[in-house]
Amino acid sequence: MKKQLLSTLLLFIVLIGNTWAQTTEEIVAAIEKEGTENSQLEELAYQLMDLNGPRLVGTPEMKSAHDWAVNTYKSWGINAENQQWGTWKGWQRGITHVDMVSPRVASLHATQLAWSPSAGKKGVTAELIILPTITDSLAFAQWLPNIKGKIVMVSMMQPTGRPDDNWEEFATEKSFAKMKEEREAMEKAWRENMEKTGYSSRTINKALEQAGADAIAQSRWFNGFGANKIFSAGTDEIPVVDISLEDYGMLYRMVEHGQKPQIKIMAESKDLGEVPTFNTIATIPGTELPNEYVILSAHFDSWDGATGATDNGTGTITMLEAARILKKVYPNPKRTILIGHWGSEEQGLNGSRAFVEDNPKIVEGLQALFNQDNGTGRVVRISGQGFLHAYDYLGRWLEAVPDAYKNEIETTFPGTPGGGGSDYASFVAAGAPAFSLSSLSWAYWNYTWHTNLDTYDKIVFDDVRNNAILTAILTYMACEDPEKTSREKAVLGINPRTGEQREWPSQRSPNRKGGLD
Ligand SMILES: [Zn+2]
Repeated sequence: MKKQLLSTLLLFIVLIGNTWAQTTEEIVAAIEKEGTENSQLEELAYQLMDLNGPRLVGTPEMKSAHDWAVNTYKSWGINAENQQWGTWKGWQRGITHVDMVSPRVASLHATQLAWSPSAGKKGVTAELIILPTITDSLAFAQWLPNIKGKIVMVSMMQPTGRPDDNWEEFATEKSFAKMKEEREAMEKAWRENMEKTGYSSRTINKALEQAGADAIAQSRWFNGFGANKIFSAGTDEIPVVDISLEDYGMLYRMVEHGQKPQIKIMAESKDLGEVPTFNTIATIPGTELPNEYVILSAHFDSWDGATGATDNGTGTITMLEAARILKKVYPNPKRTILIGHWGSEEQGLNGSRAFVEDNPKIVEGLQALFNQDNGTGRVVRISGQGFLHAYDYLGRWLEAVPDAYKNEIETTFPGTPGGGGSDYASFVAAGAPAFSLSSLSWAYWNYTWHTNLDTYDKIVFDDVRNNAILTAILTYMACEDPEKTSREKAVLGINPRTGEQREWPSQRSPNRKGGLD
């Protein structure tokens, strides 16, 4: 009798085990099927990048993107809301048009920098001037009155518009080496001269404005055909534009030849005062452990030289799509799934730092966070971020992922805690298990990161599909795990760069009032 009971019990356990295994496999298969056969990524990318446009903090386009995200979640039956965490300088980009008007007429490839003041209704037409070679800051101060009523060119002229890989492919070894040597010498001379002015490339715009310049032109090329970085203006009154390497070089050579070229800048941006700034937070409530959380994380804001497709449109649509898939195939998660679309990552992880500061209970209940923010590529690296037992649980969750979605992933355990770079760091600093799903580059640094070329066409949808499925499976596994994840920190060892003992990064407060003095 006893024996029979025992064997029945054993059979029962085996059955339960099988059911669980089947369920896991079935759900993973359902995630894969939904993510592959009913992918919404192209449509989401179209709506976010093409239709809504860039998402610079403080712009009406940032707000409309937040509203779009909330409505998109609602259309999938997922609750979402915009949570205000601060205010920012309100600004809106307008028409930018820059033309050379003398010695001949040509339309230039140029755009206003973020937060650049307007050029007024009539625009600014003026002669260009380049920075002189000077002996010291006194000499620079003496030269400064020359810029009154002029447009100052503040970037070095590049000796070549061809990226290095293009030289490598076609140049003779000798001429490639010569070009690099000459360019290095130019860059060194430029840096030393800039130092002698008493300013840096960051602070010089303000000094030129105060000295009476009409406008500033820069060209921040980054070793990729046609790719310029488009950051912020750094002035209060005068417009700042970025001009393509090709046009900037032409104008620079004309100035050097004494041709006195003139350009006309039309730049109709609007200053909108102080505006609220948000995170969009979506929630799929947990059924068994509602106070424990698995967070899908991707910053929502972008720079505005293009449409922020790979920084961080791809991370954003990965998390949206993963949430959509999960709601469909796993609508009643054990733990709460929270999707965080952070504002103002680009100015210092501000949205996520604010969330961590404002939601200690959620941070305390964090089972795991998955962040994606370095381009469109397949996930190829995951670090344990210095959590001693990350290997156990991340390893367990990854086991459930079919090979096709993980066979290129290199893991590092326990790894070292990220001190910055993207929003997972805001949570790691608070001691919460947050991880970065790190992507293949696809020439991210040269071509799309903060550039004028970060657009829809650079998205590699098959890779993003891979990542959305991977994220959904990891989220499902983290939700179902019978154990709460350990937060025990590894001994961090010596930093080989500094020779000092590594320390866990400390939690930092966000800037809750940005761009407003
Ligand atoms: Zn980013």
